[in-house]
Amino acid sequence: MDTQSFRKHAHELVDWMADYFESVEDYPVMSQVNPGDILKQIPASAPEQAESFDQVFKDFKDIIMPGITHWESPNFMAYFPANKSKGSVLAEMLMSTLGAQCMQWLTSPAAAELEEQMMVWLREILGLPETFTGVIQDTASTATLCAILTAREKVTEYAINERGFDNQKFTVYASEQIHSSIDKAVKIAGIGAVNLRKVGVDEAFAMVPEQLNQIIEADLNDGYTPLCVVSAIGTTSTTAIDPIDEVGDICLKHQVWHHVDAAYAGTALILPEMRWMSEGIQKADSFVFNPHKWMFTNFDCTAYFVKDPVSLVNTFTITPDYLKTSVDGEVKNYRDWGIPLGRRFRALKLWFVIREFGVEGIQEKIRKHILLGQWLANQIEAHQDFELMAPVPLNTLCFRYINGETDKLDQINEEIMKKVNNTGKLFFTQTKLNGKFVLRLAFGNTNLEAYHVENAWSLIQQTASTIEL
Ligand code: PLP
Repeated sequence: MDTQSFRKHAHELVDWMADYFESVEDYPVMSQVNPGDILKQIPASAPEQAESFDQVFKDFKDIIMPGITHWESPNFMAYFPANKSKGSVLAEMLMSTLGAQCMQWLTSPAAAELEEQMMVWLREILGLPETFTGVIQDTASTATLCAILTAREKVTEYAINERGFDNQKFTVYASEQIHSSIDKAVKIAGIGAVNLRKVGVDEAFAMVPEQLNQIIEADLNDGYTPLCVVSAIGTTSTTAIDPIDEVGDICLKHQVWHHVDAAYAGTALILPEMRWMSEGIQKADSFVFNPHKWMFTNFDCTAYFVKDPVSLVNTFTITPDYLKTSVDGEVKNYRDWGIPLGRRFRALKLWFVIREFGVEGIQEKIRKHILLGQWLANQIEAHQDFELMAPVPLNTLCFRYINGETDKLDQINEEIMKKVNNTGKLFFTQTKLNGKFVLRLAFGNTNLEAYHVENAWSLIQQTASTIEL
C-alpha cells in the first residue's frame, strides 16, 4: 500500500470509527452469532495474491462486525467494563504508527520517561503512598504473577531463579472471592494450586483477617513458608473490599508480601471520599489496578506499583550482551520490570486520557457511576420481587428475582438473563453467591448516562414478569 492509498483508507477508517462511536447503541450488545458462524466465512487458506484494501474492509464489516460484542456500548454491563475514550483511541493510532517497541530506554527514551512520569501522576491522583514506584504491565494477571514471583525470589534470596526448586513448601493466601488470576499465578509460579489457601469471607464477601492469621500460623507450624497474601479492593463477583489495613498488619507480623488487587475498583481511589477502601495501603508491598477497566484507557494498560522496585528488578533482570547500552546505569529499562522483553508504548494512552478529561473530569464520571450504583441498589431493595445479594460499595450489583418457587429460582434467574441478553438491548452476566445463581450488573462505560441504567432495570423487571416455569 503506498502512502497515498494509506492516507485515503485511513480517512475512511476514521470516518467509520466516528460513526461507530455514534451508532454503537444500534448494534446488539452481545453478538448474536452461533459458534462456528464466523469461522465458516473465513477461507481455509491464506490468499496467494494480494487483495485490495476495499475488499478486506468490506469483509471486516460483513463478516467480523456481526461477531463483535460491543464493549463500547453503555448497555454493556457484563463482567467489568473495558472502557475507553476518544483520546486513548487516538493515542493507540499514534502508537501503532510509530510502532515503537519500548523494551528499554534507548529503544524510545520518550516512552520510558513518559511511563515513569505517568506512574507518578497515577500514584498521586489515586492517593497512593510516595514510597510506591510504578510500572505499566499488560494485564493485572501479569502484575499479580510478578508480585508472587518477586515474593518467592525475595524470600529465597533469588535461589529459585538460580537453582530451581529445592523441596520448599510455599503458601499463598487470598479470600474465597479472589479473582482466578491469582489461582493461575500460583500455578505458574510453581507454588502448586493446593498451596493457595482460600480464606473465608464475611457477610459482605470480604476476607476475614482473623482466619487469615490462623491459617498462616497453622502453616508455619506445619513447616510451610508463607510467601504472599493477595487481598482485593473490589472482588470480581461483588466488588467486596478486603480489610487492607488489618491484612497489612498480619503480613507485617509474619513478614509476608502483601499484594493488593484493585484491578477494577482501584480507579475509584481517584475520589477522596472512596479512599477508605485503601486505608492501610502504605503497609502493602504491591498494588495493581487497570486503567483499561474503568479509567477510560482502552485495553490493555495495567498500572503496577511496588514498594521495593529493587526486588522486582532483581527477579526479572537479564541483560545479554546484545541489549547492553551505555546509559544502563542512569535510566529505567522497563524490560527488567516484568515478564515480556518487548513492550508497547502504553504510557502514551494514559497521557492522552488524563489530559483529555483532567483529574476532575475523571472524578466526575466515576462519581456519577457510583451514584447510579446506589440508585439501582435502592430500586432493587425497594422492589418486593427482587433481592439484593451483596452490598454495593461501587457500581456492581448482584441481585436476583425471588418471585417463584424457591427450588426454581436459579433457573428462573438464568432464563431472565438469557432472554434479556438475546434482545440485544443489554448485556450482563451472572455470578454465584452462597450457592445461588445471581444476576450481576456492572456498568462503567465512558458514555454511561442515568437512562442506560434506568432502561436496563426496566428491561430486567419486564422480562422477569414474563418468565413462566
Ligand atoms: N483482578 C480482578 C479483581 C479482576 O476483576 C480481574 C478481571 O476482571 C483481574 C484481576 C484480571 O484482569 P486482567 O484481565 O487485566 O488480567
